[in-house]
Amino acid sequence: MFYQAGLVVTKFLFPTGGPVLIVGAMSIPVTDAPMTFDLFNPTQAHQELREVIARFASGVIEEQAREYDEQEKFNIDLFRRLGQELGLFGLTVSAEFGGAEMDAIAEVIVHEEMSRFDPAFTLSYLAHEVLFVNNLFINANDDQRRKYLPGVLDGSRIGGMGMTEPSVGTDVLGLSTVATRKGDRFVLNGAKQFITNGYEGDYFIVYAKLDNNSRREITSFIVESSYDGFKVGKKEEKMGMKASSTAVLFFEDMEVPAENLLSPENQGMSSMMRNLEIERVTLAAMSIGIALRCIDVMADYAINDRQAFGKHLSAFGQIQRLMAESYADCMAARALVYNTALRMNPHERNSLGAASAKLVATQMAERVARNAIQVLGGYGYVREYPVERLLRDAILLSIGGGTNEAMQKNIIGDLRAKYERAQ
Ligand SMILES: Cc1cc2nc3c(=O)[nH]c(=O)nc-3n(C[C@H](O)[C@H](O)[C@H](O)COP(=O)(O)OP(=O)(O)OC[C@H]3O[C@@H](n4cnc5c(N)ncnc54)[C@H](O)[C@@H]3O)c2cc1C
Repeated sequence: MFYQAGLVVTKFLFPTGGPVLIVGAMSIPVTDAPMTFDLFNPTQAHQELREVIARFASGVIEEQAREYDEQEKFNIDLFRRLGQELGLFGLTVSAEFGGAEMDAIAEVIVHEEMSRFDPAFTLSYLAHEVLFVNNLFINANDDQRRKYLPGVLDGSRIGGMGMTEPSVGTDVLGLSTVATRKGDRFVLNGAKQFITNGYEGDYFIVYAKLDNNSRREITSFIVESSYDGFKVGKKEEKMGMKASSTAVLFFEDMEVPAENLLSPENQGMSSMMRNLEIERVTLAAMSIGIALRCIDVMADYAINDRQAFGKHLSAFGQIQRLMAESYADCMAARALVYNTALRMNPHERNSLGAASAKLVATQMAERVARNAIQVLGGYGYVREYPVERLLRDAILLSIGGGTNEAMQKNIIGDLRAKYERAQ
């Protein structure tokens, strides 16, 4: 199983001896090794990944972002290029199955860098890469991996995940899509609401129940949009994330082969919850990307471009406060997000970290994007600058992948488990 930290090089000081470098499983004593650990780029491979994606995002992704937002269209050709030219699909998949064999930090880097320029396009990437590809790789057997991974890794097939339903979102264990066994198949009936990539997707991981009376016994399936009984409803019209499609999926007596069972019957809940953790940390990373871009825009505008009363805007205390608080807030959230991702892998649950990172980063991004609009005044409110789009996009991050209220609820649940005294 991958996404492991790889060759993370860390320097520790031991009380009885000198410093040692820990490289993978080896420890090498050193006398004056420099402190090289970088939380945001822990290895050379992470640094290189960031450079490649930052270049592509600031050029190619930025160029199309406004147009696709205005047209409310998903740029499917550009999406396929992420797989075919950049190898950005399957970052957490092992090399044996064609992936990059990287980790949650790599996912955070890509989501952050792309969201600086186009969060909506990045949301579609997240649904494909994290909600489908990572989820499938971690939970599938080798036959399923061999069948489904090649198409989603080269981008010829698009993936997504269906958990939310018309009547349940936060109360996800109340889902009511039912799967009934019929020989070597399961027959699915139900609907999934607000599904990212729902309109274009070829493959989805879908959560259902074999027994509708049970709350915790959930079963997951790999579903193909070509199956009889699979129907897509209308594309939703949204306030933000317009360049990413959102649609209802209907399953009407849809037959799914039994070999497409992703987890053993009734045991899909833990894989669902575990995948929600990496989803939350990547949604948090998207918030960081949005905030960093807003800081770039407001700082350049206030320090270099706009003057009032014969001074640059950055000379005014109230503007300084908006800028300084945005910067400090963003830096704190960024450290939390990377620190959480560093401690996230398929063998270790980190629900408290993921919920905390998402709660802090998403609220921060909304504040920072709003501050950027305020600093730019009228120019912030119109579309000449990207900050109004970034605020619209940022708001989704406090809702998707679990609302902020759900994050507060989860954090309290974890704190109770940690602190509650036995009665
Ligand atoms: C653009 C977009 C893309 C999405 N993509 C996907 C996707 O790809 N796959 C997928 O499965 N889902 C997806 N979702 C769904 C998303 O995860 C849900 O919208 C979210 O989990 C909230 O569920 P809900 O909308 O049903 O709100 P509800 O659960 O109805 O909540 C409504 C309000 O009540 C609050 N609330 C609910 N329960 C409690 C409680 N116990 N205590 C306090 N407050 C509570 C909520 O926080 C919220 O403020 C997407 C949504 C959007 C908008």
